[in-house]
Amino acid sequence: MSHHQIVIVGGGTAGISTAARLRNADPTLDIAIIEPSEKHYYQPLWTLVGGGMFTPEQSGKNEADVIPYGVEWIRDAVVAFNPHQNSLTTREGVEVAYDYLIVAPGIQLNWDKIKGLREAVGKNGVCSNYSINTVGSTWKFIRELKEGTAIFTQPAGAVKCGGAPQKICYLAEDYFRRSGVRDKINVIFTAAGPRLFAVDKYREVLEKTVARKGVETRLRHDLVEIRSDSKEAIYRRTDTEEEVVLHYDMIHVTPPMGAPDFVANSELASEAGWVDVDQYTLQHVRFSNVFALGDAASLPTSKTGAAIRKQAPVLVENLLSEMRHQPLTAIYDGYTSCPVVTGYDSLVLAEFNYDGEPEETFPFNQAQERFSMLLLKKYGLPALYWHGMLKGRA
Ligand SMILES: Cc1cc2nc3c(=O)[nH]c(=O)nc-3n(C[C@H](O)[C@H](O)[C@H](O)COP(=O)(O)OP(=O)(O)OC[C@H]3O[C@@H](n4cnc5c(N)ncnc54)[C@H](O)[C@@H]3O)c2cc1C
Repeated sequence: MSHHQIVIVGGGTAGISTAARLRNADPTLDIAIIEPSEKHYYQPLWTLVGGGMFTPEQSGKNEADVIPYGVEWIRDAVVAFNPHQNSLTTREGVEVAYDYLIVAPGIQLNWDKIKGLREAVGKNGVCSNYSINTVGSTWKFIRELKEGTAIFTQPAGAVKCGGAPQKICYLAEDYFRRSGVRDKINVIFTAAGPRLFAVDKYREVLEKTVARKGVETRLRHDLVEIRSDSKEAIYRRTDTEEEVVLHYDMIHVTPPMGAPDFVANSELASEAGWVDVDQYTLQHVRFSNVFALGDAASLPTSKTGAAIRKQAPVLVENLLSEMRHQPLTAIYDGYTSCPVVTGYDSLVLAEFNYDGEPEETFPFNQAQERFSMLLLKKYGLPALYWHGMLKGRA
């Protein structure tokens, strides 16, 4: 059995930025990150990869290059938590003990919840921005479509960045228009939920965006099956239970997502399966030496990297207080941000907190579509991510 003072599960956005902040605060801390992947991806770029503005390769770096100096990388995956023994078990059968644990393995893509999707995705017009293996197919199918029906879906429940399913719809629509085929393509956005966006201020603008672009929206439509032979998308209406069949020529699917199984099956889980932490302090509600942040945590806010930028400093301050047996005083207010790309030259920068109140960064109305905010998403935020956030500086 190996032992570390602090063990971090997951070397994604949350795990790396937290490790870097901890090392910056105290270089003597003994920290290990358990992460199976060789590559680390800046996933927000996948929207722009799907829209043909970047290649998939441009969104990634070697994991070894983002692990902070002095932090040990255990290249393995966690399969079980033993919080009463302050240890966990890995896929390789190794037991790792800790004094403090930070759980940040992200959200799980549940492709199998839509019948036929796993086999279909990446082929014959079925694509998805949600994985590095399929994001390249989005741009291919958008570019190839000259006529017919293009569908963009949003499932029920939490997904990474609540606005991301819409972003690719708007980019595709803009691309069809710019390449002169828009009048031959019917663009449909479907969502299982009853609204286009959770926060009224931004929802009102996005409703005008879909109207202006002539995008047909079908709310309360939950995709349940893809029949790739006949190019049919099968929906269940969430209000009437009625089945609706739509023909597609291309379909961008946002897969249903949920807590990772090994978290949901553990003693760390909330009823819904997420790591059960206090929404303000990020400390586990039953195990005081356990903390969590990012997509895997039970925080009732939209799951984004931007949210993690505000969670990481709170977690670090509270963990250091816990280590010194002092009260936890840092508070996370639920801040999250979703830059909703509405075309190749426009973006609505939604920023809000737990109460759904806008919490905007800039001294202008961010509900307006702006070219400057698109430039921020394309160039500013990736630089902030690689050079600021992952280094524990921003
Ligand atoms: C298409 C798309 C668009 C997005 N747009 C935006 C946006 O515009 N703005 C924004 O802020 N956010 C956006 N996001 C969301 C953002 O990328 C995520 O919220 C963020 O990456 C979550 O960070 P995380 O560390 O919780 O999870 P991740 O970054 O996904 O990292 C989780 C890590 O845990 C590892 N892991 C998994 N299982 C195990 C295990 N068993 N043991 C050990 N390690 C494990 C994984 O390999 C991974 O490296 C977008 C995401 C997507 C996919």
